[in-house]
Amino acid sequence: MNKQELKNNINRYCKVKYGKTISESKDYEIFNALSLALLEEVVDDWNATKKLYSEQKQAFYLSAEYLMGRALGNNLISMGVYEEVKELLQELNINLNQIEEIEEDAGLGNGGLGRLAACFMDSGATMNIPLQGYGIRYSNGLFNQKIVDGAQVEEIDTWLKYGDPWSIRREDEAVVVDFKDYSVKAVPYDMPIISYGSKNINTLRLWQAEPLVEFDFDYFNAQDYAKATAMKNKAEDISRVLYPNDSKEAGKLLRLRQQYFMVSASLKDILAPVLKGEEKLDVKDLGSKYAVQLNDTHPVLAIPEFIRLLVDERGVSFEEARAAAQKVFAYTNHTILAEALEKWDVKLINKLFPRLLEIIKELDKLFIEELKIAGYTKDQIEEFRIIGNKQVRMANLAIHMGFAVNGVAALHTEILKDTELSNWYKLYPNKFQNKTNGITPRRWVRLCNQELSAFITELLGTEDWVKDLSKLKGLEKYINEDRVLNRLTAIKKTKKEQLVAYIKKVEGVELDPASLFDIQIKRLHEYKRQLLNAFYILDLYYRLKENPSLDIPKVSFIFGAKAFPGYVRAKAIVKFIGEIAKLINNDASINGKMKVIFVENYRVSYAEKLFPAAEISKQISTAGKEASGTGNMKFMVNGALTFGTYDGANVEIVQEAKEENNFIFGLRVEEIEAIQGLEEGYIPEAYYEAQKDLKKVVDSLIDGTFSDGGTGEFKDLYHSLIKEGDTYFLLADFKAFKEAEDKVFEAYKDQRRWAQMSLMNIANAGIFSSDRTIMQYATEIWGITPITLK
Ligand SMILES: *Cc1c(COP(=O)(O)O)cnc(C)c1O
Repeated sequence: MNKQELKNNINRYCKVKYGKTISESKDYEIFNALSLALLEEVVDDWNATKKLYSEQKQAFYLSAEYLMGRALGNNLISMGVYEEVKELLQELNINLNQIEEIEEDAGLGNGGLGRLAACFMDSGATMNIPLQGYGIRYSNGLFNQKIVDGAQVEEIDTWLKYGDPWSIRREDEAVVVDFKDYSVKAVPYDMPIISYGSKNINTLRLWQAEPLVEFDFDYFNAQDYAKATAMKNKAEDISRVLYPNDSKEAGKLLRLRQQYFMVSASLKDILAPVLKGEEKLDVKDLGSKYAVQLNDTHPVLAIPEFIRLLVDERGVSFEEARAAAQKVFAYTNHTILAEALEKWDVKLINKLFPRLLEIIKELDKLFIEELKIAGYTKDQIEEFRIIGNKQVRMANLAIHMGFAVNGVAALHTEILKDTELSNWYKLYPNKFQNKTNGITPRRWVRLCNQELSAFITELLGTEDWVKDLSKLKGLEKYINEDRVLNRLTAIKKTKKEQLVAYIKKVEGVELDPASLFDIQIKRLHEYKRQLLNAFYILDLYYRLKENPSLDIPKVSFIFGAKAFPGYVRAKAIVKFIGEIAKLINNDASINGKMKVIFVENYRVSYAEKLFPAAEISKQISTAGKEASGTGNMKFMVNGALTFGTYDGANVEIVQEAKEENNFIFGLRVEEIEAIQGLEEGYIPEAYYEAQKDLKKVVDSLIDGTFSDGGTGEFKDLYHSLIKEGDTYFLLADFKAFKEAEDKVFEAYKDQRRWAQMSLMNIANAGIFSSDRTIMQYATEIWGITPITLK
């Protein structure tokens, strides 16, 4: 990159966009001008990559969520010019960090599933895989969270307010999506996904919904302005928010519309050469040209839509179209929570796209015939059916029609095969695969922990580890070198100090960087058991009050989580933690020995500050409930030790980094199943009555210790444990949790040993790179080999 040229380009964009010189420009204006100047650098390679990919088999990733976070810093790292641009800006008296901080997160997702899609995009480009992402360009991302008096308040996210310099609107590639009642335009916005270490530029294409005509001229002329723009609003609603509230039928219809909008636009785009007849393609060969990965069930309508396009618009026979679909689609399952397995009322589908319902019914019928021939009884067939109880079962449609089904961690895939989907596994043993999730090392180490990255590069003598994370294994040989261990400890301290300064600035709370940083950050959900962590903290506080000389290190408990707006219990847990924090942080008698903070608005950019500062990674889901987790991997590679249950990818984490370097506790899947299999089942009251310490913290929900503002929310939490059977086994795991924490405190006394444990975690985090995961998808599912732009 030519420095002077880049300077000139930034200057020019400031001029033509804002009519200013650089020095007169505001931070967001510089952010936009710099982004455009960088985009300009990659456009030629981007177009060349598209052409290169179009000449061979391609994979398409369909996902309702992409939790991208910020683009600028990541793109600078991928382009290999972060330091150079930082210096260049310094010459202009501009601080790059300040410019990075002005960027709004693209929060087009909820949590792990959406962040996985974002990591896959990054890794697809770096591994030079012909992979394109498709999704929806929500004009408002996941809500911004305010914590007011300890409780969550949602505010609208307006991520586009400063513009979106990293997207290019492709008006000329817009397509029309037809619903039964009206049609809308889907306009693609393309984001470049920049490879680290090669010239490939992949694409994330997000669709924006717009009306076919801006407004109705006749109504406007008749001065009925509401009616004149009614269609514009109806169209724009489709790409307004992720997962609109669906407590009523209107909301359900909107969600369903979104799903079809995304898949119909994407397939028209993917199949354009076929549909336009430009390409003489044998339908039987579609499976050797395209692979479409369905990220969970949200994009599963792509299957009947694919068939519809071939049959209705290309005159292909139903049998042939069905057979082609069975070679193109693959499905990723992300959960075993029954509530998350999507089902849609036949009535709703019929209301929006009756032709799709016809196709789904036909698929159901053909499937039944196959099962009959295979010797299944009517009762057995019922479980497999695509339509049941007047609902379309999206997972069944995907498993039957897809050529591959994958779980997202070893334990998760085993549970799918053994229990949740065991009959499907018997029917289609060859479809099932495991693809353990991963995270991109570019964002989650190289960008967010530049101090650690520089040290790793120094030790390994090369920066290759950023695109081959297995190289971290080479750090193990330093396990007894004090120089290395001390540097690791010093880097952790630096990252803690940076976090402390940031928290002070945005939350107004002061933490001690010398305290143990114990962090639980993830969506708020009962199965993730933030409430168990809260109970533990409260119990520790009571013990400290009783015994001021209790032998524990100074400790900071940090939470970050958004609760889905309609999830009352999750919001009650936020409030409960807020109350505990208030009690503990305001108690001068404990001399600041412990602090609790619930950080506001947990999101990707905040996560980038939290993971590098963590010493304990809290991963305490009920065994069997967390499909994989990826937060656990981000902690690990940044040197935090896992405090967790034997669940999801925690199992593989301790397999790699060894159990002695982490803290594993609690019931295992088999033990939970055994308890559930007992005649009397699980009796939470037994634990509650037998453990005075446990009873005291649980009772704090109802005995007036804390106020829920008269909402009755805390009493409801109490009921979930005592009356409703404690679905997630908090009470059963409390004792083991405490014992494991004692081990943490004991271990923390020996800082040298702690640094060794930390080093072992970093050195063995290699397999949790999403580069490894995406290569496995490419070779084991899609049948695609990398191709590098020359
Ligand atoms: C990684 C990540 C997640 C997923 O965290 P889990 O602990 O795996 O649930 C969620 N949200 C954000 C912002 C993340 O970066």
